[in-house]
Amino acid sequence: MQKLEQIYEGKAKKVFTTDDPELLIVDYKDDATAFNGLKKGTIVGKGIINNQMTNRLMAKMEKAGIPTHFVKELSERETLVKKVSIVPLEVIIRNISAGSFAKRYGVEEGIIFDNPTIEFSYKNDELGDPLLNAYHALALKLATQEEIDLIKKYSFAVNDVLKAFWLECGVTLVDFKLEFGRLSDGTIVLADEISPDTCRLWDSKTHEKLDKDRFRRDLGGVEDAYAEIMKRLVEHDL
Ligand code: ADP
Ligand code: UDP
Repeated sequence: MQKLEQIYEGKAKKVFTTDDPELLIVDYKDDATAFNGLKKGTIVGKGIINNQMTNRLMAKMEKAGIPTHFVKELSERETLVKKVSIVPLEVIIRNISAGSFAKRYGVEEGIIFDNPTIEFSYKNDELGDPLLNAYHALALKLATQEEIDLIKKYSFAVNDVLKAFWLECGVTLVDFKLEFGRLSDGTIVLADEISPDTCRLWDSKTHEKLDKDRFRRDLGGVEDAYAEIMKRLVEHDL
C-alpha cells in the first residue's frame, strides 16, 4: 500500500491517503510538543517507538473486544489504519493524580484513586482543548448520547487491559488520553495512538517517569525513558 497525498500534518504524525478511500497511512515523527505547542523539540527515535508500541497495544485491544482503526504496520514509522472521522473529544482516564488534575484540584501527584476517573476535553487547538462534560459535548453536537456511552465503556475497558499489561512489565499506568472515530458506516472505533506521548507511565518500584513528562518537565533522559518502556513492552509481549 502506497502513500498518495498528505492530507494532514499534526504535531506528532503525518496522515496520507491511499488508493483505498477507506484506508489511510499514518507516519510517526520524532517531533515533540507540549503545553499546546508552546514547547517544541525532538525526541530521537520516538516516532519508531510510538508507532510500534501503539500497534502492539491496539492489537491487544482488538483481542479484548475493543474495535480499533489498526490494520497493518507497514514500516518502522508507518501504519495502515481505517479512515475515521475523529470524534472531537479527548478522553482522559486517570488511576492516580498527576498533571492537570493535580494542578486544577490543588492536590499532590501520586494519590491512588479507588476508582478510575474519566474526563473529556474538546479537541480544539485554538481553544486549548477546554475541559467539558457529556452534556456540553451533546449541546455542541460533538457526539450522540449513544456514542458517548460507548466511548466511556470502551475507555474503561482499555484502562483495564492496559493497566494489567503494564503491571506485568513493572510499570504503573497513571493516566492516558484516547481518541475515537467513526468509520464510514458510523461504527465507533479507537483511533490515534497509545504511547508514552499520551500515557503517564511510572516504574512501579522507583516511580521513575518513563513518558513524555521527562520532556515536558526537562527531566533529562528522555530518549532513554522511551527506549526503556519499549524494551519492557517487547519483553512481556511475546
Ligand atoms: P495533532 O492533530 O493533535 O497535532 P497528530 O500529530 O498525532 O496530532 O496528528 C494525527 C491526526 O490524525 C490527529 O488529529 C488524529 O486525531 C488523527 N487521526 C488519528 N487516527 C486517525 C484515523 N484513523 N483516521 C483519521 N484521522 C486520524
Ligand atoms: N494527554 C495527551 N494529549 C493532550 C493532553 C493530555 O496525550 O493533549 C495525556 C497526557 O500525556 C497524560 C494524560 O493525557 O497522560 C492526562 O494529561 P493532563 O490532563 O494531566 O494534562 P497535562 O499534564 O499534559 O497538561
